[in-house]
Amino acid sequence: MEYERILNTIETEVFNKPYLGKVASYIPELAKIDSKKFGMHLYCSNSGHYSFGDSEERFSIQSISKVFGLTMAMSELGDELFNRVDVEPSGDPFNSLVQLECENGIPRNPFINAGALVICDILISKLKNPKKEFLDFIHQITETNTITINKRVFTSEKTHSHRNAALLNLMKSFGNIKNDIETVLDFYTYQCAIEMSCKELSTAFMIYANSGKQLSNNQQILSSRAVKRINAIMQTCGFYDEAGEFSFRVGLPGKSGVGGGIVAIHPGQYSVSVWSPPLNPKGNSELGMYALERLTTLTGLSIF
Ligand code: GLN
Repeated sequence: MEYERILNTIETEVFNKPYLGKVASYIPELAKIDSKKFGMHLYCSNSGHYSFGDSEERFSIQSISKVFGLTMAMSELGDELFNRVDVEPSGDPFNSLVQLECENGIPRNPFINAGALVICDILISKLKNPKKEFLDFIHQITETNTITINKRVFTSEKTHSHRNAALLNLMKSFGNIKNDIETVLDFYTYQCAIEMSCKELSTAFMIYANSGKQLSNNQQILSSRAVKRINAIMQTCGFYDEAGEFSFRVGLPGKSGVGGGIVAIHPGQYSVSVWSPPLNPKGNSELGMYALERLTTLTGLSIF
């Protein structure tokens, strides 16, 4: 596949497109990011790395971290995990409280905030040092040890996390949060404040495109059964109430974050990351979605 030529075409197209969408401002520190940033990085399992723009600049991964949390929790707890969080699309915004009340405090899936908060609660119960072990896992799968959190983003979200605190309180009232609310909120906010570049995200997500193995050293990080399940949840729930639209336009499993990042994978072929901070009304990167739609259109390949 001529990825270099295709990425060149996408580069020309995105730089000629108007910057629609709005940079997230409910976490005030994120609103300070230059809305014109754009990076794209594709890591092909046969032919290596292709990129353009700000693909090596780190940004706030936000909800993309939920995929790493789910991966760790699946290794720690196995199938029991799914007694506490379901695997159905929510059709609601990522931070909605509505379904939780009707569904007895069991979140619809691990990628809405409620689900990721339950995953954090599980990791806190299982791990000795959850923050360190979370970063260690990312260091392992990216083969770099410099990835860390942005403390300003952490503090900024922490002081504006009334809605996540509400989700935690509601779930605790149903008995689905075992640890102290403040401890879970702290760990969740920490993982969302991790910064990575498109190149690092594509490298990390290669395990989901490569049957659970790291490409560089063939090390099995998770089982192919776990990969099948995580990819299925990315496909059906990775974009909240826009999961259908992302499947329709792009046709790959993926995950977005309000920092403007999106990662997607084509099993057996590649992992790809884009970063463009302005978000559409559903909280997904406007231009990022466009770039990925063009990628699967120009290559003529999606999982469908
Ligand atoms: N930290 C963000 C929040 O809890 C993550 C949301 C997202 O990226 N969709 O609101």
